[in-house]
Amino acid sequence: YSLDLFTYPQHYYGDLEYVLIPHGIIVDRTERLAKDIAQDIGDNDIVVLCVLKGGYKFCADLVEHIKNLSRNSERFISMKVDFVRLKSYHNDKSMEDMQIMGEDDLSDLRGKNVLIVEDIIGTGRTMKALLNNIEKCEPKMIKVASLLVKRTSQPDGFRPDYYGFEIPDIFVVGYALDYNEYFRDLNHICVINDQGKAKYRV
Ligand code: 5GP
Ligand code: MG
Ligand code: MG
Repeated sequence: YSLDLFTYPQHYYGDLEYVLIPHGIIVDRTERLAKDIAQDIGDNDIVVLCVLKGGYKFCADLVEHIKNLSRNSERFISMKVDFVRLKSYHNDKSMEDMQIMGEDDLSDLRGKNVLIVEDIIGTGRTMKALLNNIEKCEPKMIKVASLLVKRTSQPDGFRPDYYGFEIPDIFVVGYALDYNEYFRDLNHICVINDQGKAKYRV
């Protein structure tokens, strides 16, 4: 979509190429995903494990929709929300190893129904590494929800249980996805241009 069709923060004027997914469509899709997830989970308790930092908006919106479902209908899903922080990108290049930052204690996931909420699956390497770590805690069930999945040339054989949109193998920002911590405050999923990359390169 052309940028002229939308509003976005003035400090990013000139830094974007186009809008790939408008915010309103993300919101609508997330509502439907919440419904699908709630259907599958039934009346079980879940631990929502938000993968920081990029997953914070999707996770917040998803939790809100799941909560509203259990308020308005027969569904009664009790949720605990926890966080794990990973880092795998420098500028727009994926780094070899995924790092789990901080000292998150995942041991209380034992016997729980865990819903991992991630922003985007690229090669799938990050999610596989995280799943390896989480499986060691012996949860009862693990499901993965990712807002985006890339059609990449080197897929690592990972498909999430739930995803919002499949996108081409391009670097995207917005809706909490960053380029060196910038563009998280952009509501739409967008592609940055050369000026944007140069301006925020580290
Ligand atoms: P993977 O290991 O699947 O290749 O990469 C997954 C992680 O890299 C994601 O959790 C995300 O944090 C980051 N990532 C992958 N593609 C993109 C992208 O297009 N934009 C941004 N901002 N981050 C990405
Ligand atoms: Mg991520
Ligand atoms: Mg990042």
